[in-house]
Amino acid sequence: MKKADQHLENKLRRVELLVLDVDGVLSDGRIYISDDGREIKAFDARDGLAIVALKRRGVEVAVISGRYSRAVEIRCSDLGVELLFQDVSDKLDVLKKILKQCNLSPESAAAMGDDINDISMMKYCGVCATVPEAHPAVLEVADYVTSRAGGRGAVREFSELIMKAKGMWKY
Ligand SMILES: [Mg+2]
Repeated sequence: MKKADQHLENKLRRVELLVLDVDGVLSDGRIYISDDGREIKAFDARDGLAIVALKRRGVEVAVISGRYSRAVEIRCSDLGVELLFQDVSDKLDVLKKILKQCNLSPESAAAMGDDINDISMMKYCGVCATVPEAHPAVLEVADYVTSRAGGRGAVREFSELIMKAKGMWKY
């Protein structure tokens, strides 16, 4: 294993909370609006399985979105994600509250984001990841860039890395 990989693995091993952005991370970032104003998003089933797997293994998962979407509420409810925060203007502020609530340190948190409103939250965490199509400034701060695109298995890829590093991913 390369030295850089070992450094990443050490960071991943400490993760006890994964914080996820929605648009561009849990979804491909496209927002479909129907004629009657309803919003439609597509999620990846494999991301969902990873979120459930993390939680079963004791790694908490939080979702923080800058926008509000009923579809996100339903998806998170399906996956048992109770730490859902929508219509958030300051994601770092919400992250700090979650850490306090869960009694966790920033080093034990991992974040995934794809746009500039995710950067402060990502930098605050012990480790952070992004998707290949993220904003260049986000690509610059990320410890890891997934091969998979947002909404297309990126969350699954990073979640598996976390679980592998913690020795809790077996199949
Ligand atoms: Mg986003």
